[in-house]
Amino acid sequence: MKRARQNPNSPAGQAEQRGANQRLLLGLSIHPPVIFQGFGSCSSSANSGMGRLQKILIPFLGLVLAFWFYSARDTFKPEMLRGKRVIVTGASTGIGEQIAYHLARMGSHILITARTEAKLQNVVQRCLELGAASARFVSGTMEDTAFAQHVVREAQTSLGGLDMLILNHVGASYFGFFDGDVEHVRKLLEINFLSYVAMTTSALPMLKESEGSIVVVSSMAGKVGFPFTVPYSATKFALDGFFSSLRQEFAIQSINVSITLCILGFIDTERAVRAAAEVLRERPAPRDECALEILKGAALRRRELYYRYSSTRLPLLLRDCAAELLDYLVRSRYRLRGPRRPPPSALSRGHRGEGGGRRAPPLPVPASPPPVRDARAAPAGTKRGPQRRLRALLAPPGRGKLIINKVY
Ligand code: NDP
Repeated sequence: MKRARQNPNSPAGQAEQRGANQRLLLGLSIHPPVIFQGFGSCSSSANSGMGRLQKILIPFLGLVLAFWFYSARDTFKPEMLRGKRVIVTGASTGIGEQIAYHLARMGSHILITARTEAKLQNVVQRCLELGAASARFVSGTMEDTAFAQHVVREAQTSLGGLDMLILNHVGASYFGFFDGDVEHVRKLLEINFLSYVAMTTSALPMLKESEGSIVVVSSMAGKVGFPFTVPYSATKFALDGFFSSLRQEFAIQSINVSITLCILGFIDTERAVRAAAEVLRERPAPRDECALEILKGAALRRRELYYRYSSTRLPLLLRDCAAELLDYLVRSRYRLRGPRRPPPSALSRGHRGEGGGRRAPPLPVPASPPPVRDARAAPAGTKRGPQRRLRALLAPPGRGKLIINKVY
């Protein structure tokens, strides 16, 4: 039977409304047990557990959605770099060369630099074939900060300004235990660090004008201690300190120049593979993909870029909560083998570090990597059993020397 609706302002209407509210409250208090009746003997502690789970789950889902929304907001498009004026250092080979080719395909104006003129000429030629708006080079060494400043001036005169400064070059170092050569550390700091500072300082007026970007190519070895690359790691840590602090000052001064620090894992460039492939347990990532990721990060003005994510960002999550585990994981990336002594001829050549006799003589630095050999190896022709191989692998590094090699 249909009842006539009361006027909500009349006493009878208000009584009806109160009744409806009570029925609604009653309904709410009855429904949850009905909903969860499938759980049978679900106790109140289970309900409170469920409540706690909801309290965690809902904010977590909110965070995931916010992250997804934030990261989906900006997507990279090659047009972002069309017509941009870009300097790429260390572009005669390796990752820098690939960055130049990607920029060429995107139609940028490119100024590349390194020491080897013949290689730079080839890269410029290829860039023009790939569609660069313009391509040119300046050759010289970054050991000299005056040269670093000269490259920036060249951009000003030939390109009329600058939108992006990609700092990528790296000086040769050795791969092995720290040999105590302080002069080598100083030289490497000049190439890998001071020249980056000098170029940034000179380029800043142009970058401020264009609201441009600085891209700093660094390494996992610049975020966490790596063995066998002590001088190199020191220079990469220095880059993080300088550019992360500079980013803070830009924010305070409202300077709209982005700084992207690129944290790279093992990449398949010729020199890195030659130096480390035999001792590293991981496969190198492709340099052309790495170069593209660097450009994406730069165009999207990311503060840091990790490539590959799985071998860089994820392990770094351990840094604050389980630093020793991370150190262990880093060490476990290496195939450590037994002692390898330098040939007597190399020691008598007056190698660096000799003289005072205070430290163990360093190993020679061969032009090409020697085969990694165990001095306790069985004579040629005899097979080593699995146990001996395992012992050789697990030999503590202090008992022997690892191979020494150029770069990284
Ligand atoms: P490469 O050794 O392949 O290339 C280095 C570049 O720097 C070359 O163009 C070289 O040219 C130039 N260069 C070397 N010394 C000088 C100098 N004194 N003055 C000016 N230019 C110089 O390096 P990658 O491509 O492998 O590495 C590029 C960047 O990526 C580096 O910053 C490196 O630290 C980083 N990285 C690389 C990793 C890898 O596994 N490959 C891992 C982590 C980080 P030239 O000899 O003609 O001067």
